Amino acid sequence: MNIISRRDILKQIAERKPVAVGPASDFSKIWATDVFDLEKMKKALPKQVFNSLEKTLKVGAPLEKGVAALVADAMRKWAISRGAKYYSHVFYPLTGATAEKHDGFISINRDGKVISEFSGEQLLRGEPDASAFPNGGIRSTFEARGYTEWDVTSPAYLMETSNGATLCIPTVFVAWTGEALDKKTPLLRSNMAINRAVSKLLKILGHKKTAVVSSSAGPEQEYFLIDSAFAAARPDLLLAGRTLFGKASAKGQEFGDHYFGAIPERAQVFMQDVEEKLYRLGIPAKTHHNEVAPGQFEIAPLYENSNIASDHQQLIMITLKAYAKKHGFLCLLHEKPFKGVNGSGKHVNWSVRDANLGNLLDPGDTPHANMQFLLFCGAVIRGVHKFGSLLRAVVASAGNDHRLGANEAPPAIMSIYLGSQLTDVFEQVKAGNLKNSKKASLMNIGVDTLPPLPKDPGDRNRTSPFAFTGNRFEFRAVGSSQSVSDSLVAINTIAADSIDWIASKLEKLIERGKKIEDACTAVLKEIIDNHGLVIFNDNNYSEEWHREAKKRGLPNLKTCAEALPVLKSKEIISLFENQKTITPIELAARFEISAEQYIKTIDVEAKLILDIAKTKILPAAITYLTDQVECFGILKEFSLSRSNINFVAKKIKELQSSVAKLEKDFAKNKGSIEEQLKFYSQNILSGMDAVRTAADALEGEVADDYWPLPSYMEMLFMR
Ligand code: ADP
Ligand code: MG
Repeated sequence: MNIISRRDILKQIAERKPVAVGPASDFSKIWATDVFDLEKMKKALPKQVFNSLEKTLKVGAPLEKGVAALVADAMRKWAISRGAKYYSHVFYPLTGATAEKHDGFISINRDGKVISEFSGEQLLRGEPDASAFPNGGIRSTFEARGYTEWDVTSPAYLMETSNGATLCIPTVFVAWTGEALDKKTPLLRSNMAINRAVSKLLKILGHKKTAVVSSSAGPEQEYFLIDSAFAAARPDLLLAGRTLFGKASAKGQEFGDHYFGAIPERAQVFMQDVEEKLYRLGIPAKTHHNEVAPGQFEIAPLYENSNIASDHQQLIMITLKAYAKKHGFLCLLHEKPFKGVNGSGKHVNWSVRDANLGNLLDPGDTPHANMQFLLFCGAVIRGVHKFGSLLRAVVASAGNDHRLGANEAPPAIMSIYLGSQLTDVFEQVKAGNLKNSKKASLMNIGVDTLPPLPKDPGDRNRTSPFAFTGNRFEFRAVGSSQSVSDSLVAINTIAADSIDWIASKLEKLIERGKKIEDACTAVLKEIIDNHGLVIFNDNNYSEEWHREAKKRGLPNLKTCAEALPVLKSKEIISLFENQKTITPIELAARFEISAEQYIKTIDVEAKLILDIAKTKILPAAITYLTDQVECFGILKEFSLSRSNINFVAKKIKELQSSVAKLEKDFAKNKGSIEEQLKFYSQNILSGMDAVRTAADALEGEVADDYWPLPSYMEMLFMR
């Protein structure tokens, strides 16, 4: 039976053609057509109302009364003109997913007639029952009230299904007591913290500023595409999003021939189709290419305000998954779908900017003379040193544990890469002698027809978890399936804390009669003296760095079980409390939920491993063994080697005993959430490993026709 189903799958895949999607549209014609953006609002709203709304959007003024009702009506008319009959408050619960509550525009008026309606009240607030969302103890289910509230700053958009469209409204999700139950609320608060701290510092530096300061983010998303027919025969991919079994393919990524290689046509048509929808949603998708592992790809949009970027990132994940189906693929966003080849991450590029001054992390050509830049850069150095363990904790997940520290992603040790030019500038600060910046020279390629190119004053370092990349920092430890919000909230909060600290220090020094330039150099020197240890420009994957980092006292929290409890430490609680981004109650809830998610993820994986081992792999291996023994009986006269039979029998025994042990271990799980974290990260994971090791060894010996699961070679290379 297996023989037929696996063969069928291979045949089906060999015959696949790219899905016909028609020629790509001109992006200027489709840009933001599915978004109720400012332009559409300007046309639809009375001038005064539009001006008031624009003020809220541009300078963060509170929404004026009455505006919502008119916006709601204009939104409804636009949505209906586009075929929508429903609206949905979209929110981002603490699971990291995107959630939707759908309502119809349908209403009954006083005369009992059916009408279409969408009031200001309905736009502003929704009340999803939502009691099934994890809340980490904030709400007990009998007082389950949770509200969604319109995020005016993130535009509404349309999502289509084959029978129409739904108007989607980004919202925050809060408990009736006001606590955030979602990932958006803290992000909005953290942008406010950035605005407060940066404005304070800029004022001291002599700016009479008016624009709102905010963080910006450009997240690069890695993912795998495999043919959907394989997924149907791999319960592990369907339920866990990763392979729990699978012998390495003879060829993997060792030739580096997939990375930036010609994109397979089916994948390219898929990507362009995805991007067309993203353009319609006003998401500036810019780059796509093959990644390192076979079957792995990347998509990156241009950066945007971090709140919008975060909403758009969730939409990118949803669109990738939905469009993969249309194109006969399964899109895997898991951090480590395949053992032995690279996993997927998300690089979160981050900076701070305001409309008047532009990017505050732009060093210019002479960073040594750009005190403002140096102070912002210094704030990041101090923040990452003081709160590196927080950065580790916010990327902790069961999936990401397989990737961090595996020489394909940065280690769990948080350090900063500055590059040679900036490191040199900070060394001058340390020596008390700040006077120049290494110049960018011209690059000589040795081909006369090529124009000379300016050489960057610093190289790039792909192994660093937190790298300065010319005019922004790039946080590379984020997992591919994670919401970027937690990382952005953490980065914004630690940056705000340090900028605030710098501003207060400067204030004091100036009060005591120091000149501003001298005060700035003094503060920078203090930062580099106390926190310079966090700068590391070499290979983060090397053993030496692990030893060196230990000497420097930098934490190395290797697993989720070690990293998550950081959220319960006093320093982190007061960091968030002081910057008003996450309250202590909310933070405690976040710990609980992340821990629960970790435990549940491994729990499901372990059950699945047992199921597959018992109902698919063992029967296949035993059937094979029986057939072989029978054959050998018939072929006795040839005295063939029995080593394969003996090996298979030995591995079957190992598989049986590791299955039995894992089943027994399961029964031992009890205790506090911290104890369970440890138990799953040690006992259950190693038990799962033992089962897999025996099964993968069998895959290498049992005749291919007997094997029930599509192989690594098939899944990674056939598309
Ligand atoms: P690379 O892979 O070389 O890092 P990519 O082009 O794939 O580069 O991605 C770079 C990302 O960084 C893009 O999303 C880009 O918009 C973003 N980015 C560029 N400048 C900034 C900035 N000032 N703030 C935040 N993100 C930025
Ligand atoms: Mg990058």
